[in-house]
Amino acid sequence: MAIERIVDSSAADENTDQEFEQTLRPKDFASYIGQESIKKSLKLAIAAAKKRGEPIDHVLLHGPPGLGKTTLATVIANEMGAQIRITSGAAIERAGDLASLLTNLSDGDILFIDEIHRLHRSIEEVLYAAMEDFKLDIILGKGPSARSLRLDLPDFAIIGATTRAGSLAAPLRDRFGMIHRLDFYKPEEITKIIKRSAKILNVPIDDKAAKLLAQRSRLTPRVANRLLRRSRDYADVNGDGIIDETTATAALELLEVDELGLDSADRRLLSAIIGKYGGGPVGVETLAALTAEERSTIEDFYEPYLMQIGLLERTPRGRRATAVAWKHLGQKKSAAGSQAGLL
Ligand code: ADP
Repeated sequence: MAIERIVDSSAADENTDQEFEQTLRPKDFASYIGQESIKKSLKLAIAAAKKRGEPIDHVLLHGPPGLGKTTLATVIANEMGAQIRITSGAAIERAGDLASLLTNLSDGDILFIDEIHRLHRSIEEVLYAAMEDFKLDIILGKGPSARSLRLDLPDFAIIGATTRAGSLAAPLRDRFGMIHRLDFYKPEEITKIIKRSAKILNVPIDDKAAKLLAQRSRLTPRVANRLLRRSRDYADVNGDGIIDETTATAALELLEVDELGLDSADRRLLSAIIGKYGGGPVGVETLAALTAEERSTIEDFYEPYLMQIGLLERTPRGRRATAVAWKHLGQKKSAAGSQAGLL
């Protein structure tokens, strides 16, 4: 990322951030707030698997960053009473890396692969064969003396997580018995998450402040927890440690997070579409260049939320700022602007 962003839900990159997330991570379905229909179907699948004494089916979780995919994977493992190993698509560089992960699993284990879309195609192939038959084909040696060996694998389950299910090869996607898309949370669910986190952190927060932070959290738990943390810092330094509406408002102002949860980077992106391209459509590559962000950051992080709240539209010819976006930025959609938008 070009700039450190408070509302960036794409990663918990600092160590302290990771520790903080770990503390707040729900461990079971009872404390995992929202995503009701997904929980319902997972509970059923878990009960059935337990009854049969088998591992759960392979599960694919997809959706924007920070919505709780990793958390849900650990909840599934806890509810199954299974051991979970965590890795990511980018960390598995060679087929041998995958082979060693798989052969070190025990019966009933869960292997969580974050960012599974980043696996190389050749490794995807090894993986889906293993997922289907619980066998691993490995080639020993090179050239004419090479031999292939088939190893039995334990009964394991894969939980894959991805921000882009569309990038997975169809045969891999087809090996998942369950595919769930995590949606943005409702504001009242985010309020509950904030209150739960505040309780764990022992931070006093009143209802109005919890609601205010929730409204500006991009409907995303990771962002909600971050805003809570920053408000706690603000309350500790400038007040009596209690987060009320006044401290929360002041903290949000300092962070430049506006009433829709946009920060200066979002506003810059929308302003670029409006100011330079009359509202769009603009190609995603151009947007990446204008905002000095990676294309994937625009697609995985900015766009889903901006589209969810109706500020941005995706058209076959590019991204377009909606009338709501013009209004939010205090811009008048001029005749010239709207015409440019139609070109
Ligand atoms: P993802 O893997 O989708 O990027 P995570 O599972 O890492 O997201 O979630 C980010 C943080 O948000 C976690 O540390 C957790 O505390 C919080 N969180 C996510 N989902 C929920 C939820 N449903 N209820 C409460 N807290 C949640």
